[in-house]
Order: sequence, then structure tokens, then C-alpha cells
Amino acid sequence: MKHRRGIGLAPPDHHAVEIDKVTLRTLPQWFVIYARCRACRRQTLLERRDVTRRCGQDLSLAELAKRLKCQRCDNRSGNLLFLQMLPRD
Ligand SMILES: [Zn+2]
Repeated sequence: MKHRRGIGLAPPDHHAVEIDKVTLRTLPQWFVIYARCRACRRQTLLERRDVTRRCGQDLSLAELAKRLKCQRCDNRSGNLLFLQMLPRD
């Protein structure tokens, strides 16, 4: 499958996507994923390759968000994902 339409591709910086529909497989390669802890606001870049290896390509981003655990305060609830588009040629 090629890149999906309909996931807010337009403005730069952070994006709202339908994270219950987008999986690690369908998310275009030029997006990087950040996770943010709701409790302590720690923000960290998720390595897509690591996540894919651990969870598989068909994990939706919504499921991924539920599995996140903050490395600083161990909070597991309400953690957020953000997508950032890398510059393309
Ligand atoms: Zn935290």
C-alpha cells in the first residue's frame, strides 16, 4: 500500500492524525513520532524501528499510545503521541 490520503499532511510541525486508523505500516516514512508524558511532560522521540520490532507493523498509533510508559515517572495513562514531518527533497 502506498501513502494514505486523509491524514493531515498539510501544515508543518505537529499533526493531528486519525491515530486509531494509522499504523506503523501505513504511517508515511517521513513522519517521526514523539511521545509526551501527560504527568511530567517529558517528551521523547520514539524510534520507529524499535517500536516496530517490539510491537509489529500493524499496531495502530492509538494502541501504541496506550502502551507508552514514561521513562522518568512511570506514568502510563493519557500519554500523547505527536507526529512531525521531516523535510523532504
Ligand atoms: Zn512522566
